Amino acid sequence: MSLDLLLVSPPVANFGQCSSGISVLTPYLRSRGFDVRAWDLAIDAFHSFHSPEYVARCLQKLEAAGGADEELLATARRVIGDIDEAKRALRRPDIARDHESMRWAFRTIGDVGIVMTAAAFGRYDHNFRAFTIPSAMASFGALEAAVRDPERNPYLAFLEEHALPRIAREQPKALGISVTYFSQLVPALTLAHLVREHLPEVKIVFGGAYLTAVDAEIETIPTSVMPAEAVILHDGEEALEQWLALVVRGEGSEDDLPNTWLNRGDRFRRAANRRSVRTDLTKLPIPMWSADGLELDKYLVPKYPIPLPLSRGCYWGRCEYCNISSQTAASYRTRPTAMAIADMRAAIAETGSNWFDFPVDSFRPRELHELAKAILAEGLEVEWGAEVLLDPNFTDEVLEELARSGLRCLRFGLESANAETRKAMNKPTGSAATRIMKACKANGVQTAVMLIAGFPTETQAQLRETYDYLAENSDCIDFVTIHPFSLVPGAPISHDPSKFGLYLLPEKSVMRTSLPFVSTNPVGMRNEDLPRVIEAMRDGLKEFYPDLGELWTVAIGGWMTFPACCVPSNGPKAN
Ligand code: SF4
Repeated sequence: MSLDLLLVSPPVANFGQCSSGISVLTPYLRSRGFDVRAWDLAIDAFHSFHSPEYVARCLQKLEAAGGADEELLATARRVIGDIDEAKRALRRPDIARDHESMRWAFRTIGDVGIVMTAAAFGRYDHNFRAFTIPSAMASFGALEAAVRDPERNPYLAFLEEHALPRIAREQPKALGISVTYFSQLVPALTLAHLVREHLPEVKIVFGGAYLTAVDAEIETIPTSVMPAEAVILHDGEEALEQWLALVVRGEGSEDDLPNTWLNRGDRFRRAANRRSVRTDLTKLPIPMWSADGLELDKYLVPKYPIPLPLSRGCYWGRCEYCNISSQTAASYRTRPTAMAIADMRAAIAETGSNWFDFPVDSFRPRELHELAKAILAEGLEVEWGAEVLLDPNFTDEVLEELARSGLRCLRFGLESANAETRKAMNKPTGSAATRIMKACKANGVQTAVMLIAGFPTETQAQLRETYDYLAENSDCIDFVTIHPFSLVPGAPISHDPSKFGLYLLPEKSVMRTSLPFVSTNPVGMRNEDLPRVIEAMRDGLKEFYPDLGELWTVAIGGWMTFPACCVPSNGPKAN
């Protein structure tokens, strides 16, 4: 009997962790009687491109073309010998405390990207966290041409060799392609084109957080660019269940599909009833972490950090620059504590890991406290981290109990240390920030802060205040990530940018998650100056944060930040 659905996470994604989406969707659909399997194609692609054999082919191309820089050729020869050792190093149990080895391993993996990109001779940029083709996003026509061009798209050959045979063998009735990051877009479209051409009987459905972030453009995407029967945005569980029932069993009606856009000839159109649903987290079964295709030993981490999504949305949801609320239909929901504990028990039994990295946008202190108390009452030996607001309800007592339950790292969106800038951002991060972070450190919990530089009203003096704050408080902050401001579709500020002196420029690309704008705000910094300002800020802060900018310190997405927090504490950070 053939499979109902093969759910795929395409390249290029995180080599430290599989996206949690397919781990939740797979058991949900199975519980509804569908035969579903999950496949993290991204980690397979990572290993294939980051192999001595592939880098050797790149070196041959560079040598054959002649004129390559000697240093580049030496880099290629070096990484051919080192890449397997670098991958092994990131799996060593003690790696997170050995910053020299971690730096070497990440640089070696990064150097593979330099060689791959050089051997593409300007046709594409490729590394372990990005794949882009110059000018491909200029229009849908350009995107389709790029996807179909074997010279500019190495994923055509890779997917033909590595993905099509498995899909042909498993004969799924439908293929689900989940696009969480922009870096996955071209490979995801490539996969759809190949399946459409070679296995036309397989129905294709797209979904995922990246496509949800560009939902305003879905009806403009030609179906020749995204050859699929349907696109499901926002929460996918019920929509996918109903779409599968229709496709596999002939049950239900197209018109009733929630959160779904259907192929209507040359474009996608919202299903007739335009119904939106959001998933009730109490109705979800326990996630599956190693279901048919998720092989946890392929990831480059000392122990698998289990991404357990215990909440969706944000209980604040009003920051001017953030589109989380529009993506989650402004609804904050959590998994009840008893179910969360059952999920954790099952994950430990299934994976052998006891590290939990909750991939959430926010989590109320009261709910995290309840979870911590339950972990302690149940005697669960776990280590965990989460992304939360600097909410004053994280009292010293609450943080002390969270730490006792295994909390190792909290990631905070501080965004700015200047009160006026935070007010303009509508960011509810107040005077409690320093107290919370000091309490974290007193309890052995590491802290990561994210900042935005160049919010439209922010002056150089206000940014300087943030710089000084980071310098003065480096004893209670472990990881810092600085992002330049970007105008994101769906964020409150995008509804009336002129309020902040911003004017939209004509869009020169498609499916981008940031809108081009010009700032007329007389006090704000010029957008074009921001990269230089941020670079200078990072350089200055290196005195206080020597690992700033190293890839494992990037707060969002984990990489090695979470594992780095789970090693036995060496006590407060020495500066
Ligand atoms: S930035 Fe964070 S706190 Fe603000 S709305 Fe977005 S998720 Fe919520």
